[in-house]
Amino acid sequence: MVAKVGRREGRVMSQCAGIKRAGGRCEAVVSGQRTLCFMHDPANAEQRKRAASRGGKSKPNKELADVKRLISDLIGGVLKGTTNRGDAAVCGQLANTQLRAVAVELRVREQLELIERMEELEEIVERQRGA
Ligand SMILES: [Zn+2]
Repeated sequence: MVAKVGRREGRVMSQCAGIKRAGGRCEAVVSGQRTLCFMHDPANAEQRKRAASRGGKSKPNKELADVKRLISDLIGGVLKGTTNRGDAAVCGQLANTQLRAVAVELRVREQLELIERMEELEEIVERQRGA
């Protein structure tokens, strides 16, 4: 059951249909056709689980090291004249794209961890309010 809690800028706002881990109805408000907030949407739960099981910080660290080694090799190759300058330029651009992807992944992971911690804090507050 979805309780309509009002309208904002013409969009229907509803209370999330999810149940908190500590028990009780989730108080998050969702808009449009959605019935579950980010925390309770199973699609996001799957995403969170995947991010969590990715093994801590090891993967981005390894990727960063790989890209840095590649860039060093390219610089060395260009300076020694063993690497074509055009190839090095294209590889440099791709390496840059890779670095940005790693940075985005780190930010996403950081936010997921923050959401996780926020939920834990919410549960603690909720439990104290009930006590
Ligand atoms: Zn919710």
